Amino acid sequence: MKKLLLSLGLVVSTFCGAQNNTSYWQQHVDYTMDVEMNVENYQYDGSQELVYTNNSPDTLNRVFYHLYFNAFQPGSEMDVRSRTIKDPDRRVGDRISKLSESEQGYLKVLSLNQNGNKISFEEVGTVLEVELDEPILPGEKTTFNMEFEGQVPVQIRRSGRNSAEGVALSMSQWFPKMAEYDFEGWHATPYIGREFHGVWGDFDVKITLDKAYTVAASGYLQNPEEIGHGYTDQEVETKADTHTWHFIAPEVHDFTWAADPDYIHDKRIAEDGTILHFFYQDDEEIIENWKKLQEKTEELLLFFNKNIGPYPWDQYSVVQGGDGGMEYAMLTLITGERSFPSLVGVTAHELAHAWFQHLMATNESKYEWMDEGFTSYISSIAMNQVMETYAENPHTGSYRGYLQLANSGVEQPQTTQADRYALNAAYGASAYSKGAVFLAQLGYIIGEENLDKTLKRYYDKWKFKHPTPNDFIRIAEKVSGAELEWYLNDWTRTTATIDYGIKEVIEADENSTKVILERHNLMPMPIDLTVRYTNGQEEEIYIPLQMMRWEKPSDHENWTVAEDWAWAYPTYDLKIDKPLNEIESIEIDESQLMADVNRDNNLYTAQETSEVQE
Ligand SMILES: [Zn+2]
Repeated sequence: MKKLLLSLGLVVSTFCGAQNNTSYWQQHVDYTMDVEMNVENYQYDGSQELVYTNNSPDTLNRVFYHLYFNAFQPGSEMDVRSRTIKDPDRRVGDRISKLSESEQGYLKVLSLNQNGNKISFEEVGTVLEVELDEPILPGEKTTFNMEFEGQVPVQIRRSGRNSAEGVALSMSQWFPKMAEYDFEGWHATPYIGREFHGVWGDFDVKITLDKAYTVAASGYLQNPEEIGHGYTDQEVETKADTHTWHFIAPEVHDFTWAADPDYIHDKRIAEDGTILHFFYQDDEEIIENWKKLQEKTEELLLFFNKNIGPYPWDQYSVVQGGDGGMEYAMLTLITGERSFPSLVGVTAHELAHAWFQHLMATNESKYEWMDEGFTSYISSIAMNQVMETYAENPHTGSYRGYLQLANSGVEQPQTTQADRYALNAAYGASAYSKGAVFLAQLGYIIGEENLDKTLKRYYDKWKFKHPTPNDFIRIAEKVSGAELEWYLNDWTRTTATIDYGIKEVIEADENSTKVILERHNLMPMPIDLTVRYTNGQEEEIYIPLQMMRWEKPSDHENWTVAEDWAWAYPTYDLKIDKPLNEIESIEIDESQLMADVNRDNNLYTAQETSEVQE
């Protein structure tokens, strides 16, 4: 069943529609890697065969690899950036600058061949630049063979050895990884602090290390009968000092693993057949939380299956490791010494990334708000249900974060490259909070039902691919019928804010009232107005935004659609066929899903004067 879904996804990806006026294509990689880890000095040797398929219409004369571990060296871009930004990540600070040679990280390429012929390369920080002797023509495959060696840095950011919680090896961003080439060209982004973009493909990885260690990894273990460690019910005895763990991960764009001699390994088969693995330290303070987490993880998985689309792989692992919570293919590394709600909350967020990053694989460096924001949006709703909080608006935290940012004076447009925000705090609020509000507010604009359908169609059309912001908004347009380019543009490419207000409520004649609304700021919005009458009745008046060329559907009983408001007009006159003294209150956006930066002017009540404060 799962396998079928996966192959269906592949078929869809072959015949997918247009992007940026060209037919969609994506590159493909097949990695076969063999790596041997020395758990005494944390150095490893690896060999890599990479079959690269150039599905682009372009001839490639060079390629680039990421060498992420080189970031963990004094003087690297990550180090210097962390020491010069005003609000450095506490986990990094100046720690890289103080690493001794044996504590640093590195990835060194020892040799590289293309189709059996030696080619030259240059290591430039965290990127390997490779000039090809044989250009790769459109539609061609080429095979690269590489020998490399690495050293696992002391745990500073995401990956590393000996985490604060005592996990021996958190192995993300650990191998020479081909950079993505897409319709925008090469994305050989240096590793400065955050965000990834990778090439879709299949991984076949063999990891050899001390047999006392349990390995958790992306992909499916091929040789459980040789390994044991909770993968089979049988005890496995071998004479050798090491074990070789063999994993295969199909259709992913990354491969991550972790290892520790003290891991407890539990398995749970979810209702949809997905095998959930849990790896955590044998530490009595955390065991109870990690046992309770297992049922919640299944509930979260089923929630995302239902509300986005089915999880397509056969397994997912929640692994104690890393330095917070970070998403990888079929796996998350999270710190484990947390309160139970925090453990579930971080698991919810990272598991949601299996969809918004590991299935709909946006270029995180450019569109960080699409993976962090969409993930925050859906995990807030999932947590509201799974933890039985049932808040009316589960996104209030995201709105608070965004409004604080919008009023802070340090906001940069969401199109800012993830590493190039002036402040880490501005990046965080923009990617996570403003990104989540993008979706929640889209629900206000096109209606919840249309938003739900949009997410599902986005999954159907863009899983196992690299969607862009435009691809997403086009789905929302097609689902709803509304014009939405203005929303994508103003919300994500500018720092324009929303402020609509009630300017005046006055008697028009003895049977009617005139309401004057005002747009104070630049960002356009359609308006939901709630009018309450003294007789207890209530009316919803919807003022369409003219540039949307559309009206929001509603199943409200007293729903009135008023004339369109064309954006350039700063004010709008609304006539209500009731005398002024029968009106109790008028409010712009009672739902508070419209991220109005100044709500003081949104409410008129009869008790006050008819002049509403600005
Ligand atoms: Zn995230």
